[in-house]
Amino acid sequence: MLKSQYDIIVVGAGPAGTVAARFAAMQGVDVLVLEKDRDVGYPVRCAEAISKRNVVPFIEPNDKWIAAKINKYAFVSPNGEEVVIEFDEVNGYVLERRIFDYELGRLASEAGAKIQTRVYVNGLILEGEKVCGVKAEFQGKQIEIRSKIVIGADGVESRVGRWAGIKTHIDYRDMESCFQVTAANVDNVDPGTLYFYLGTNYAPGGYFWVFPKGDKLANIGLGISGGDNKKRSALSFLNDNMKKFFPNASVLTQIAGGVPCALTLERISGDGIMLVGDAARQVNPLTGGGIGSGMIGGRVAGEIAGEAIRKNNLQLLDNYHNAWMKERGKSHLIFDKLKEGIFNISDDEFNDIIKKLKKIPKEKRTLGKFFVTALAKKPSLIVDVAKVYVV
Ligand SMILES: Cc1cc2nc3c(=O)[nH]c(=O)nc-3n(C[C@H](O)[C@H](O)[C@H](O)COP(=O)(O)OP(=O)(O)OC[C@H]3O[C@@H](n4cnc5c(N)ncnc54)[C@H](O)[C@@H]3O)c2cc1C
Repeated sequence: MLKSQYDIIVVGAGPAGTVAARFAAMQGVDVLVLEKDRDVGYPVRCAEAISKRNVVPFIEPNDKWIAAKINKYAFVSPNGEEVVIEFDEVNGYVLERRIFDYELGRLASEAGAKIQTRVYVNGLILEGEKVCGVKAEFQGKQIEIRSKIVIGADGVESRVGRWAGIKTHIDYRDMESCFQVTAANVDNVDPGTLYFYLGTNYAPGGYFWVFPKGDKLANIGLGISGGDNKKRSALSFLNDNMKKFFPNASVLTQIAGGVPCALTLERISGDGIMLVGDAARQVNPLTGGGIGSGMIGGRVAGEIAGEAIRKNNLQLLDNYHNAWMKERGKSHLIFDKLKEGIFNISDDEFNDIIKKLKKIPKEKRTLGKFFVTALAKKPSLIVDVAKVYVV
């Protein structure tokens, strides 16, 4: 049963929420996670790719939630030429998020957090501007549960922040509109390669991806910028790409969703409130990857929230923004600049870039070199590339 009072309530049991809960609970404080859906980790709204370095600090890699081990990245130009960047070792994964998220929930629970699914949080308990708990619908009843801190981990469509008076607005151009299928009988896809198709014919202001999941299965989708979505839908681009590249594939699942490819919100905490993951806009603005950065945001927030409770000093929440910026936010400022550079490149230029990269010997190709070649006409960004990639 749920109690009427906890130290910390986390709204949302995605990766950001359960990691925040785990790192707070590890400090011996009383944590409750509320999830509106029936299952933790389902439905999956994600292409499920993540770098190994973003996984390892949070959970030991395990084949039960790894669908594919990645050591190659392929970039395909608008005219169909492909260049591959290969790593000596496994560099990333395509996850089974349904199981991965579940495991993160299990770890949070083992650390002492209580998780309850099918609780729909529909408001905050406020005393003036101070957040003192949540209002929710649970088993057909409207309930109130009090807490000293609420952590909003309620994803891209977050409302918790807004209820707490935090400005969560995002420019429509920064909201990537995505459509994805998980398809079977997918031919000509290497099981260790993530494919990125670049150019306006595939996905204007974004990219078309093919992420393998073994056994001729793959997550195939694309994101296009909010501006371009007004002219033609992501689904219509995806239909064309599927027809062109995977005419024999069967569609097993399909999803649509938004990815906030923006900078982190200016304010991600307040009186008794913190936001993590997509709710705080902690997604990498260049790649749209939010699993890893959401977990990092979750850890930073969970550690600070736990400490604030232990020391009975809620002022410590004010440290969260700086701590996040130090940990990941500053690199997101750079990724945001690179995004502006990359997504303004014309199709002809992309064709040239891929051609040039193919001339670099295979063993000397790096992601850093990809960006340096792509942004050669914008020398001011080359320094930024060097800050986030090995060139
Ligand atoms: C099509 C698509 C492809 C993507 N591909 C990738 C990828 O390949 N790699 C990558 O790293 N990222 C990817 N992302 C982004 C990634 O899925 C998110 O950044 C990540 O899931 C964010 O984690 P989170 O914990 O912040 O939010 P979520 O995982 O969205 O979790 C939020 C949780 O809060 C719950 N919730 C919401 N409101 C309430 C409420 N009122 N009460 C209770 N519970 C609530 C939701 O049910 C959900 O379980 C993709 C996104 C999309 C849409």
